[in-house]
Amino acid sequence: MARAGAAAKPKIPATGITAGLEKLGLRRPLDFALHLPLRYEDQTHVTLLSEAPAAGPALFAIKVRAVTVAFRPRRQLLVQVEDDSGRANLRFLNFYGSQTKQFERARDEGLTLHAWGELKPGYLGPELVHPTISKAPEETATAAPSETLTPQYPTTAGVSQTQLRTRITKALKDLSLSETLPVSDHTRHLPGLTASLQFLHAPPPDVDVGALNARKHPAWQRICIEELVAQQLSLRKARLARRQKGAPVLRGNGSLTNALIKALPFALTKAQEHAYGEICTDLNQSYPMQRLLQGDVGSGKTIVAALAACQAIEAGYQVAFMAPTELLAEQHYNKLVSWLAPLGIKIAWLSGSQKKSERQAHLSAAASDAHLVVGTHALFEDTVDFSKLGLVIIDEQHRFGVAQRLALRQKGNNPHQLMMSATPIPRTLAMSYFADLDCSVIDELPPGRTPIRTRLIADTRREDVIAAIRSAIAGGEQCYWVCPLIEESDTLELQTAIDTHALLTEALPDYQVGLVHGRLKADEKISTMRAFADGGLHLLVATTVIEVGVDVPNASLMVIEHAERFGLAQLHQLRGRVGRGQRESSCILIYGKPLSNTAKERLRIIYENTDGFEIAQADLQLRGPGELIGKRQSGVPMLRYADLERDADLIPTAQKIADQMLKETPALTDVHMDRWFGHAEGFLKT
Ligand code: ADP
Ligand code: MG
Repeated sequence: MARAGAAAKPKIPATGITAGLEKLGLRRPLDFALHLPLRYEDQTHVTLLSEAPAAGPALFAIKVRAVTVAFRPRRQLLVQVEDDSGRANLRFLNFYGSQTKQFERARDEGLTLHAWGELKPGYLGPELVHPTISKAPEETATAAPSETLTPQYPTTAGVSQTQLRTRITKALKDLSLSETLPVSDHTRHLPGLTASLQFLHAPPPDVDVGALNARKHPAWQRICIEELVAQQLSLRKARLARRQKGAPVLRGNGSLTNALIKALPFALTKAQEHAYGEICTDLNQSYPMQRLLQGDVGSGKTIVAALAACQAIEAGYQVAFMAPTELLAEQHYNKLVSWLAPLGIKIAWLSGSQKKSERQAHLSAAASDAHLVVGTHALFEDTVDFSKLGLVIIDEQHRFGVAQRLALRQKGNNPHQLMMSATPIPRTLAMSYFADLDCSVIDELPPGRTPIRTRLIADTRREDVIAAIRSAIAGGEQCYWVCPLIEESDTLELQTAIDTHALLTEALPDYQVGLVHGRLKADEKISTMRAFADGGLHLLVATTVIEVGVDVPNASLMVIEHAERFGLAQLHQLRGRVGRGQRESSCILIYGKPLSNTAKERLRIIYENTDGFEIAQADLQLRGPGELIGKRQSGVPMLRYADLERDADLIPTAQKIADQMLKETPALTDVHMDRWFGHAEGFLKT
């Protein structure tokens, strides 16, 4: 829609628009056609000032009464306007001299103007701040300026809505798009791609703007399906590409795995055996495994990883085992040494805080005869060379960025990858962004675990909690006390931990109380943890450094202070530090008031549930999926229009269509992917 702007904007130099369009990824006519509106404005009818909607913009037909440039509180243009129903002010904080003149001319000639904006109460009465102004045609002054809903496009500096509209309209006219999706039961009820695009760029006025903005209209559904199919195709192709890459075949002879199983003080659960079976099969393939091992906190993922490591070592390859925190890496190191060193496996250890000479020794071991190298992300620095890396194991994979995972794939010659996580991936994400991963699930806990009892206690009853600790310790138990999370200040968090430690030391004079926090030197942290693990400390006061992985089976009471400040996943992880032994365990959540509604909801969920999957599901509902994937970094093309939550039911359909296309019309698959993702930097990088 061309508009004679009373508030004409200054001319934008050609380079501005070219650069802007480039930035928007708009090059080919196709890109313009697929550049769809964010939302729509309904300028198909005029609203009286007195009937302005309570919220949201509307179109008003007004006459100018007075034009003033005010200087207080700052320079601004104030235009007093009216229609048959009342008066209002237009307020412009940034304006040009030409705008003032145009309003004055409109006032002198009694012209009717169209103003689009949201009418809000202001200091001088109702006002429109920075409305979009256009001249109304005199004869139909109060008639609508537009016959279709006005699309509002995502844009960037230097590219106006009008410029976009003009180019998009032209692109739509010039382009003849072939349909790439097969006609099937999944698509038959929806308009075709071309029809959908035409509709969405210029919807008729009788369409409900709300429904359109909510993207539930069949035309939107068509677009979302198209995009999701493109995503599924790219995932499937990435998987095929991975299969074409060569990886070492890690066929073990069973000598180490069998010896390890025999030496364990427990029998593997069915679920552990099954998961290892799947991994074993993968390692026998000549293309790189990419498998996620999922299992709730305490389900026993580490031993499964150790078996995988043994298999790789039997086959004559090295294994890297990476953990997200120093504490956890150290703990894995100790555990792996105790399991594997007796089998003659040589283990090196790398961490960021290691002494130089020590590090050097471990580095040269990694480059020569170490079978297994355990560490933090320090493992994947440039200085670390492996002599023959065959398998990479990443614990708590959700803690690592994609960049780190990619860096590690560069080491060695396409090593196999095993990732572990206690955070289940919700179904929609598993089917889309993570569809390139194979997944094994450990869905049972080792036998003999008694469920953790969770109690909620207000912080006014701290004395009762201390009494509970006293009697637990007297009964031979060990306890954790987790200090409150203080988001805005590490220093304050540290101070709180130190204070709490002092207070509890005083309250429990007969017992040993330890303290760990992030500021301790690595060896101090480790010696404290070791003292706790060995039973030398009765109570361990800690910040969230103990959140993941820490495994001290004799600890059976967990106190979390200001539990309302923690996220659900965090609470579940923390609580998972107890309930690891035979003893009945409990978790006391101390909360401070007042509680926000979300905090209340979180505490209710953690109180009622012990199953990590259910907690993650509830968490997803509270927070939305965005936070669960490092969105931008996932390496999978981003979805522009489809929304995994809103369009969850379309994903299985998209999968079926993608499979059908790969089988029946493979030549169209590239056309389709290029159409949807060709403008963006990347397809999935494997
Ligand atoms: P997570 O899956 O949370 O990483 P871990 O691997 O740390 O769990 O295992 C938790 C605890 O359970 C450890 O002490 C481990 O030795 C023990 N464990 C693992 N598998 C079994 C089993 N099959 N039977 C008994 N205990 C087991
Ligand atoms: Mg673990």
